[in-house]
Amino acid sequence: MTVLYTAQWVLPVATPPVQDGAVAVADGRIVAVGPEAEVRARLARLGTLETVALGRAALCPGFVNVHSHLELTALRGRLEDLSFFDWIRTLTRLRGEQMAVADLEVSAQWGVVEAARAGITTLADTETSGAGFRALCQGGLRGIAYQEVFGPDPMQAKKSLTGLKRRLEALRPAETNLVRLGISPHAVYSVSSLLFRLVIEYAERQALPVAIHCAESQAEDDFLRSGQGPFAQFLRERGIAWTPPRVSTIRYLSDLNVLRVKPLLIHAVRATEEDIGLLTFHGASVAHCPKSNAKFGHGIAPVSRMRQRGVRVGLGTDSVASNNVCDLLDEGRFAQLLSRATQGDGQLLPAAALLQWMTLDGACALGLDDRIGTLEVGKEADLVGISLASPHLEPVYDPVAALVTAATGRDVVLTVVRGRVIYDGQRVLTLDEEPLRERLRELARRLGTVHGT
Ligand SMILES: [Zn+2]
Repeated sequence: MTVLYTAQWVLPVATPPVQDGAVAVADGRIVAVGPEAEVRARLARLGTLETVALGRAALCPGFVNVHSHLELTALRGRLEDLSFFDWIRTLTRLRGEQMAVADLEVSAQWGVVEAARAGITTLADTETSGAGFRALCQGGLRGIAYQEVFGPDPMQAKKSLTGLKRRLEALRPAETNLVRLGISPHAVYSVSSLLFRLVIEYAERQALPVAIHCAESQAEDDFLRSGQGPFAQFLRERGIAWTPPRVSTIRYLSDLNVLRVKPLLIHAVRATEEDIGLLTFHGASVAHCPKSNAKFGHGIAPVSRMRQRGVRVGLGTDSVASNNVCDLLDEGRFAQLLSRATQGDGQLLPAAALLQWMTLDGACALGLDDRIGTLEVGKEADLVGISLASPHLEPVYDPVAALVTAATGRDVVLTVVRGRVIYDGQRVLTLDEEPLRERLRELARRLGTVHGT
C-alpha cells in the first residue's frame, strides 16, 4: 500500500519548498516527492493510494534531537535554580535512590510521548537504565540509546566495565533496525582515564557509537586545568587521587586517544580554537544544547566557528530536568537568536539553514544522513506535519521562515517514523497516554516529597 501525504507546503530540505506538495510512502520509504498533481500522475499505475491530507500545513523531515535523557523526564521542574554541582548531585541521588526501574520506564515513556508530539522522530538518548532504549522501541521512534558508565576511581575501572558489558549484553538482542545501542563514558570528572581507555576499546570491538558529556562548565575546566573546584573536592573527599593534566577537556580526550572513535561530544561549550581543530581533525561531532547551557549559566558553545570549520553539529534538548521542554523548533530558534545576539549579525542562520540544522545536520552528526534527514526518494519516511493555521502563524509569506520563527512543537499534527504513524494530531498511537500520565503524576508526588539537595 502506498500512502500519499499532502500539504500546502512540502519542505524537503534537500530541495526548495513545494507548494501543494505530496510525499508518497511505501514500505517505510519515500517513493515520490513533488507537486501533488505530478506525484499522483506518476503513481497512478500503482493503483489505490491512501491519502492523508494535512491542508494548511507544512510537511518536513522528522526532527533529530541529538541529546536527551528520556529517563529523567519525571524530574522536569524538580531541580530548579540549583548550582550545576548541586543539580547533578541531587539528580544522581533522586535517580539512584528514589526511582526504581519501573519509575524510570514511566519517565522515559512520557519523554517519548512528548517527543513524538513535538515531531521529534530521532533521539540520541543517554541513560543509565535501559528504560530509554525500551521506551524508544515501544514508542516506535528512531534512536541511539547510549548506556552511561561512571567511575572516577581507577581502582574500580574493571568493575565498571564489567557492569557496562553486562548491561549491553542484556539489551543487545532487543536492538532493532530503528533503535541501536551506544556507550557513554559520562564525563572527564566522573570517569577515570583507565576507564576511558577500557570503554573505548570495548566500543571499538563491538562497533558501538560513543557519546561523552564534554567541556560543559567552569567547574569541569577547573577540575582539569588546576585540580580545584567542586568536582576535585568530591574526589578528594572519597580519597581518589587526581592529578590535573592542565589542558582543556577536548585536548585531554585527544591525548587519551578517545577521539579516534569519532564520538558525539555533548555541549563543548568551552571549546577553544585549538579544540575545534582537534574536532575537525578527528571527525568528532557535537551535540549543541543551547537552552540547557544557558539555564545553568555555562555560556554559549562556539558553534558558528565549529560549523565554519566543518564540525558536524546537531541540536539537542538535553534532559527536560534542565531545559524544560523537548522541542527542537524551540531549541533551534533559541540557538539562532543567541548566535545573532552575541555575534551582532542579523543574517546568521537564515531560515533554510536553521530547518536543515534541526533535520539533516542532526542526522549527519549521528551518521544517519544516508537514511533520514531529508525528504528524498529512497530515504526512510520520517515525516512531521506542522499546522500553519494557528493565529500565531498567520499570515504565511514564507513557510520555512514561518516554521522556524513562530511554530513550536505544539503545532505538530503528524509524526511518522519509517512510514508508521506515531502521532496523528490527536494522540500518540504507540503508547497509552492517559494511564501513563497518571503513573507519572504519582511518581512526581513521591519525588516531590524528598527534601534537600
Ligand atoms: Zn546531558
